[in-house]
This record gives sequence, structure tokens and C-alpha cells, in this order.
Amino acid sequence: MSLKTKYIFVTGGVSSSLGKGIIAASLAKLLQAQNYRVTIQKLDPYLNIDPGTLNPYEHGECFVTDDGAETDLDLGHYERFLNVKTSQANNVTTGRIYQNVIEKERKGDFLGKTVQVIPHITNEIKDRILSLGRNKEFDIIITEIGGTVGDIESLPYIESVRQLKWELGEENSLVIHLTLIPYLSAAAELKTKPTQHSVKTLMESGVNADIIVCRTEHKLSNAIKNKIALFCNVQNEAVIESIDAETIYDVPILMQKERLDKVVLKKLGLSTVKSSKMDRWKVFLDKLKNTKKIVNIGLVGKYVELQDSYKSIIESLTHAAVANEVKVNIISIHSESINDNNLRELLVNLNGIIVAPGFGERGIEGKIKAIRYSRENHVPFLGICLGMQMAVIEYGRNVLKLEDVNSTEMKEDCKNPIISLMENQKSIINKGGTMRLGAWDCQLLKNSKTEKIYNKKIISERHRHRYELNNKYLEQLNKGDFVPSGINPETNLVEIIEHKEHPWFIGVQFHPEYSSTVLKPHPLFKSFINSSIENSKNKNN
Ligand code: GLN
Repeated sequence: MSLKTKYIFVTGGVSSSLGKGIIAASLAKLLQAQNYRVTIQKLDPYLNIDPGTLNPYEHGECFVTDDGAETDLDLGHYERFLNVKTSQANNVTTGRIYQNVIEKERKGDFLGKTVQVIPHITNEIKDRILSLGRNKEFDIIITEIGGTVGDIESLPYIESVRQLKWELGEENSLVIHLTLIPYLSAAAELKTKPTQHSVKTLMESGVNADIIVCRTEHKLSNAIKNKIALFCNVQNEAVIESIDAETIYDVPILMQKERLDKVVLKKLGLSTVKSSKMDRWKVFLDKLKNTKKIVNIGLVGKYVELQDSYKSIIESLTHAAVANEVKVNIISIHSESINDNNLRELLVNLNGIIVAPGFGERGIEGKIKAIRYSRENHVPFLGICLGMQMAVIEYGRNVLKLEDVNSTEMKEDCKNPIISLMENQKSIINKGGTMRLGAWDCQLLKNSKTEKIYNKKIISERHRHRYELNNKYLEQLNKGDFVPSGINPETNLVEIIEHKEHPWFIGVQFHPEYSSTVLKPHPLFKSFINSSIENSKNKNN
């Protein structure tokens, strides 16, 4: 069957933070389970070229793809749900759209025309949407429009959707509008008016919603669903309830029960299979909800107030815990709050410690104290990126007894720059998109712990950092218990260090959390949780 690529647009109304990304990912998962090849794209209406320059407090974690794109954290959900990789093409911001149009203008590509939002910006947006379908890699492309309908900055996107819907035709495109049905406790009633208004706002831009997904804290009665259908111009079956869920991994199943996949496929004129392939997902969900045994994992970082800052790490721990049939209790510890007086009290009940990635000086001494504690007390330790760099500094200071050991990121003129800038980074002035980014190969040391964990000789993992372990110190580290167990074969940079004598002490310069998925938990996280289970057994004896 040669299919025409189908396009689904997801817009949001009434309020932000309704979880468009999760709805898009859940729908994509269900369509994938119906044997369609699906990808999801996120269009972000802000002027940064990418979220790489944004503080995690602003926008949560920055997710990195294999091709080195710094992207919105929703792409992490897409990959974790679909088990399919995304790339730069899956995340486009207004900044990037304008940058491209302005570059073309400077080249003279517009042949003397006045360059305007319509048609030039909208053409560029449409091109970004359609280009994902060009090489016929996917049957269905879901495009999530960031922001809320009615926002000034969303207008060019909504106009592009309007044009595309018209150009592609009824059978090849549809719009899903995600809204909120608030519950007024004083009146004990669910209210549909904000949804009616937001659908109207969408219509003012010439776009009809085909399906309305309603976020709600309470079940929607048929009467309410029919009312929404009547006032919002959609069929009754196209009003979908999306009730608050215990975990994001419930959402595909809830959407399946609401027949979202069936309604979508019917509207797009696509066939449905009898039994959709969600069995493995259901097994995962069952284990996630029903395992009782708990391991306590400390997550030491400086952005811990905001859960979204460490989204991928938290999800990777969840996947790995399910694979080990335990529940992970993640205890966030603010690295700035750690001092010699409270160190023990904060860490004594942990079965494993992760020191998180990060930038800048704030909170690093606390991270170093937590690392020393896990090294000396044989608590399983995983250091990610900055966490690995701090583990090397801790070793340099407390075991090798070197004086004034640091990273040049924190102290440029330190005596022993055990972490420093690579030569080719020294001349870089621009901050955006200039780190060592994306997937790099890494050769694992024979018979090392890491080689056993991966059960491979060469791995490929994603990076996002500027500083590196300084190879001048390699010999000293190697003489001790610190083994460089992963080396970049191209540049000779150390990507992994492990402690020989410790039960589980591994630091990685890359970000394993970007490549853990529900159906393919990451080996490092799996092994880390496994060792944390051993730690909890020893503690209980
Ligand atoms: N700040 C460190 C660097 O740039 C680590 C970055 C990170 O943890 N992602 O090298």
C-alpha cells in the first residue's frame, strides 16, 4: 500500500502545561502499535535559536539528539515512548525560522520582494513541517505547536496549519485541540466554557478542531461530552477525556480506552488492526505500579527545585527500576545545601547516588562531598557529565593529594587543572550550539566493569559539554584505583572512569539518560539500580 503521508497538528488552549507533549507521544505510540511509522515534531514559538542557551529553571532540561541538536524536553518523551530517534528536524523554534528567512534575504533569494510574516515566515514553517515527510520515512507526522492558541507568538504557526490543512485536504490532515475542563468545587461542576472560547479563538484564525482532548480532574459524563461536541463543531466520538493519571505511562492506555487512535485513523481514512501491539507497554506499566520493593536513590544537583530539569535522568531511573522489578524512590538533594555537618544525615539512607550534570560553580563543593562519601562508604555512584568531572576532581584532591585541583570552568588559573578545555574550544566565543554535542563513539576497556555492563566493545553516546578530562593526569589516575574505561577512538579523550575496588563507581562524560526508553532501558542505569539493590540488602542485614 503506498500511503500519502498524513499530518496531525496538536494545538493547546485555555492553559499552558496541559501536557501536549505527552498526548502527542501517547497518540504516536498507539499509531505505532497500529503498525504505522510515526514521528513527532515540536514547533516552539520563542526567539532562541534552540533551548541550549536557556537556564533549566526557564525551560526544564535541554534534550540532545544523536545529530547534536539541543532540543525541547518533549523530544525526550517522544523517544522514550516511541523507541525511535529524533533529530534537529523534530524541533524548530521561531528563532530558527526567522534566522533562516533572514539568511535567505541576505543572499538575495527573495528576488527583490518585501519579506513578510505571510508568506515568507509561514512558508518556512510549512516547509519544516512537510520536510519531515519528504523521504517517505514516516506514514504519519504529528506536529505539536508550542504555546496556547491566542498567544501573539503562535499566530504564524496557526496560520501555517490553516494553509496546510487546506493544501493537504481533509483526508490527509487533522487538528487535535487539547484543552482544560476546570472543575468548580463551589458549584460542584465541570465547566466547558473556556474550551468553547478557545475553540472559537482557533476558528477566528480559520482553523477548525477535528478532535478535542479534554484535560480534566474528574470523569466527563456523556452529557458534557455531547455539549462540547455541539458547541465546538466536532462529532461526539471526537471529544476525548484525558483524566489526570498516576503516571505519564498510563496516558497511552487511557487514550486507547477513549478510542483516540481509532477516531484519528478513521478521520484520516486509514485502516486499524484488530489487536494493537501494546502488550509490552502493559507489562511495563503493571510492573511500574505493582512492585513493592524500594531502592532509595539520591539525585544531587543544583536545579532540584524543578523536576523538569532532570527529566531524562528521572525517567531513565524509572525504566531501570522496572527492569529490576523494584520501585525507585528518588530523593532530590540540593548540592548547595550539603555541608560537613549534614552530609551523613542526608546520605546515610541512600542505596545509590547520582551526581547530576550542570554548568558553573554554584553547588560544586556539595557535589564533591557527596562523591567522597559514596567513594569511601562504597555506595553505588553514577556521575553524569559534570558529575564525572567532579568525581575526577574529588579523586585528585583526596586520594592523589594534588594541590589546588579543579576544572578550569570553575577556576581558570588553578594549579592542577585536571578538567580543562580542549584546544579547539579555547577560541570559541559564542555560547549557542558550540559545545561538544551529539553522539560520539567510545571504545570500552577490555574486561572493565563498563565493558561487562554494555556487553560491547564500542558504544555510541550523546554529549553536551565543553570541558574534558585533562590527559596529562591520566598516568597518575591510572596508577591509583581510577581506570579510564572508555576512550574516544578519534580524539583519545576519556569518556568513562571507573573505580577498581568500589562495588559500583562510574563516571561518564556523556549523557546516558538521553537514550533510555520504556522498551529499552539503558544498561548503565539498569546495572546501577541492580547494584543499589545489593546495597539495600547489605544495609538491611
Ligand atoms: N559544565 C561542564 C562542561 O561544560 C559539564 C556539562 C554538563 O554537565 N552537561 O563541560
